[in-house]
Amino acid sequence: MDFPSIILRPKEEGRLEGGHLWAFSNEVAQAPANVPAGTLADLFKAGKGFLGRGFYHPHSLIAFRILTDQKDQDIDQAFFEKRFTNALEWREELYPDTRAYRLVFGESDELPGLIIDRYGDFLVVQALSAGMERLKEMIIPALENVVLAKGILWRADATLRELEGLPIEASQVVLGKIPPRVDIQMENGHFSVDLFGGQKTGFYFDQRDNRQALSKYCDGARVLDAFCYSGGFGIAAARAGAREVVFVDSSHAALELTEENAVRNQLQGKFTCVEGDALALLASEPPGGPFDVISIDPPAYARSKKHLPLALKAYEKLNTLAMKALKRGGILASSSCSHHVDRELFVQMLRRSARKAGKTFRLLELRSQAKDHPILLAMPETEYLKCAILQVL
Ligand code: SAH
Repeated sequence: MDFPSIILRPKEEGRLEGGHLWAFSNEVAQAPANVPAGTLADLFKAGKGFLGRGFYHPHSLIAFRILTDQKDQDIDQAFFEKRFTNALEWREELYPDTRAYRLVFGESDELPGLIIDRYGDFLVVQALSAGMERLKEMIIPALENVVLAKGILWRADATLRELEGLPIEASQVVLGKIPPRVDIQMENGHFSVDLFGGQKTGFYFDQRDNRQALSKYCDGARVLDAFCYSGGFGIAAARAGAREVVFVDSSHAALELTEENAVRNQLQGKFTCVEGDALALLASEPPGGPFDVISIDPPAYARSKKHLPLALKAYEKLNTLAMKALKRGGILASSSCSHHVDRELFVQMLRRSARKAGKTFRLLELRSQAKDHPILLAMPETEYLKCAILQVL
């Protein structure tokens, strides 16, 4: 089958030859007119060398996303089955005792713009590129063949879809049935997940390894889990011996989930839920005495590069408050999921915050997203989460 050819400008191929999977719109020299968004196409460098087969988008900043660098590779159901099998094998190796994980993390699994989270027998799919949305009818049976699922939910409410001209729509059950709540067993807790209405696909798998890491410092501690969503950090802490956990979130629905999960993990009598602004709570006299351990995991403050300066100020304000609230020996786990705030900017922000708080910290661990969200070495864009574990001296 013949695909349309997209040709890059001279000298724009270097990054792609190094394994990066995107070509940006300003790097494209020639493309046929009137191709719909997400059309399968072949990418060539100037001078005609083949770079890859993938999705072309005439109106997105990301003009081309490479699916394969194999010439003449068919993009059919068997292709997706192979990719899904590879992705599944890696997750089964990583987390042999649970069937809850991010099964496919887009570019890092050579599936640009496709996200799939597995909740036991149920799968939640998000198509964030026009190309993946177009191949929906191929993706669903491929997934069904590789993972024996009882239900697949196609969620179409992620705002990132707008960048690809995709509509924000209600989620659709595309296979079997999806119950209102699904229970998952993780290495650091049991959680009830709302696949239809929960944030992202229902659960933040990206923090799983960081929850585990922080829990090592929580034995006997009084813990604040700020921006708790469904309670992941605090529950992991309590299971590792924390004596008390205070959960804070501004969302009522999130706190309901947290409460349900805290009870399910036998935290009765050891936890409190506070609905409100985490910054206000950190700035006030801590309820019930000082905290030994604080986790702050705010939503992405820098949604685009243009928001970066303001976002850094907001991170600094939050981190300064959390640092001030800790005593000698206290532990802070500070997270940022803004992709535009890279590790360097993140650490610089922590330094400024510590200085403002008038405290000295040791950087015990500088962590990233969990291994079921792998980072593609050639694509810095695939790394977005930072989590620093600090201790007050
Ligand atoms: N720590 C969570 C994920 C946090 S997501 C986990 O491990 O699963 C960010 C959360 O911050 C969301 O639940 C959102 O409702 C909450 N949030 C946003 N602004 C807030 C604020 N000012 N104060 C408290 N919570 C806030």
